[in-house]
Amino acid sequence: MFQMVCLTCGQICSDAGLVKCPRDGGVLDVRYDSDDFPLQPDLPGMWRYAARLPVTDPKHIVSLGEGDTPLTPSAQLGAGINLPQLYFKNEGLNPTGSYKDRIASVGISYLRQLGRRAWAAASSGNAGASLAAYGARAAVDGYLFTLESAPRAKIAQIMSYGPQVMSVRRLGYEPAAEQATWANIAALCDARDWLMLITARSNSPQAMEGAKTIAYEICQQLQGDAPDVVYVPVGGGGLISCIWKGFKEWHEAGRIARLPRMVAVQPLGCDPITQAWQAGRPVQQIDECSGTVSGISLTSPPDGDLALQDLRESGGWALSIPDEDTHRSQSELASREGHFVEPAAAVVWAAARADRRSGRLTGDERVVALLTGIGFKDSQAIQKMSADKPLPLIEADDIPRIAP
Ligand SMILES: [Zn+2]
Repeated sequence: MFQMVCLTCGQICSDAGLVKCPRDGGVLDVRYDSDDFPLQPDLPGMWRYAARLPVTDPKHIVSLGEGDTPLTPSAQLGAGINLPQLYFKNEGLNPTGSYKDRIASVGISYLRQLGRRAWAAASSGNAGASLAAYGARAAVDGYLFTLESAPRAKIAQIMSYGPQVMSVRRLGYEPAAEQATWANIAALCDARDWLMLITARSNSPQAMEGAKTIAYEICQQLQGDAPDVVYVPVGGGGLISCIWKGFKEWHEAGRIARLPRMVAVQPLGCDPITQAWQAGRPVQQIDECSGTVSGISLTSPPDGDLALQDLRESGGWALSIPDEDTHRSQSELASREGHFVEPAAAVVWAAARADRRSGRLTGDERVVALLTGIGFKDSQAIQKMSADKPLPLIEADDIPRIAP
């Protein structure tokens, strides 16, 4: 069983449908009865952690095989920077190609548990695809509001699952458009008794519980040990906050002896969390994003202050990566590791390399870099990766002479 506790005022909320504290609008944290919890290996994938998820009856579970993604030791890149214990957690292998499937699986299951008939969300792509897929499987209606600049190929994937998709003017460029979009989605869901599923702890605390299972899996995959440092791509701040919560819960259950340091990685042209970290102040919205990295470019991160607090608590840090380094890292992950990831995922390798070069990483650490999504969705980014490579046309008879 679980209850929701306001992180601002501590009020315990028993109404399962609440998404914010009714007293002060604070973020609700989902809390469970005891620190210890049994695993349920009979349930699929990440649902073996169902005792730590807010879906109380397995009959409501909507699953497409999410979770259980591989933790792969680096083949070449780690050795190249004298960081031999570098691992990649490949979330691109979830059913729709990103970690958002964990959140959508919990969110749509939770929607069924509440007896609701429709969801509404705002997304730059990956979350929309996840919600649309799990919503289709659960046969509930979906309404998705997307960024004006969202890559068209990502939108095509979402549309194929059948929700209603609308692009909102200036969303993704202006904080005012973001705030108005979220406020209006919340009002719409209140009026129609739908469930708002925005992948932020401050909007969908129950669904976001799915993301913390990444931490549980990493500890299990490291044979019951914790990593020293975890690199996470950060836009809104919710993912890194949930993963930190997952490590803390695994620790409180007595399953690991220590906790990792968490590192938030942002795109340089759109990095309000890094700026706040460096200035030692709360997160302030920025006026406009100049970056080109889809998925982690948010001017007004909804969970930004939660993420900052978690960086401090874990002894971690934040840094930002220029877009050209991100695109180079994306190519290197493909050509030297075999991981074909989206640009937003590639920032973690660029960040580990930068921290090794600056000496912030000594090289002795066991490092996990989270690859949040697969590279197949963004056709423009794919073409950019191979744009400078020649494609010679040869005769079949030339084949024996192509290599020395
Ligand atoms: Zn409160």
